[in-house]
Amino acid sequence: MSESTVRIGLVLPDVMGTYGDGGNAVVLRQRLRMRGYDAEIVEITLNDPVPDSLDVYLLGGAEDSAQRLATRHLQRYPGMRQAAERGAPVLAICAAIQVLGHWYETSGGERVDGVGMFDVTTSPQAERSIGEVATTPLIPGLSEPLTGFENHRGGTTLGPDATGLARVTRGVGNGVGDGLEGVVQGSVLGTYMHGPALARNPELADYLLIKALGVDSLAPLDLPEVTQLRRERLRA
Ligand code: GLN
Repeated sequence: MSESTVRIGLVLPDVMGTYGDGGNAVVLRQRLRMRGYDAEIVEITLNDPVPDSLDVYLLGGAEDSAQRLATRHLQRYPGMRQAAERGAPVLAICAAIQVLGHWYETSGGERVDGVGMFDVTTSPQAERSIGEVATTPLIPGLSEPLTGFENHRGGTTLGPDATGLARVTRGVGNGVGDGLEGVVQGSVLGTYMHGPALARNPELADYLLIKALGVDSLAPLDLPEVTQLRRERLRA
């Protein structure tokens, strides 16, 4: 690995990997390599401290018990939080939104203190939300519809320091009646979209890479298969 290698942090794939969200790291690495960058995935497991020096951080979804282990680890090792404070991009999927909030309530009704990187709280809803979700992004730099597969019981309420990533056009999203999907706070993004989200949403992948590289834009990649897949999923 050289000094110019872009380092993609896959945070706690051993516990927050239940839904295949580790694929997001593979997508970022591939999109970098296709553009001529050196890129590596750095896996940070429960046996490792969380470094603050990586270029981008990804944290996937998981069930309640696994997300509790992840919460404890990220409270003990604040490297990702410190990186976000200097502007490093972070993508948190599903349970990871809940872990990064002030607190979340498990489906068993227990309230667990979160990491406090998102001004959000999460409580279980009457019914689990499972199915395709499609949204219209709300933040500058994203214009294409977002698509993913949601599977969660938690409903997430945003506080004043957080904004929604997107407005739901299909499916449930954050699930508290405000029509929003996902969270944005500084350089930290959260979404309920599994998929993996970045395989389905190349514009979101490049949004993170632009921030990770500190560039103004990236030349688009012409990948007809990805475009075709997106078309099918948005039509489905
Ligand atoms: N346990 C959480 C919930 O049901 C998160 C699930 C997930 O990451 N898919 O809300």
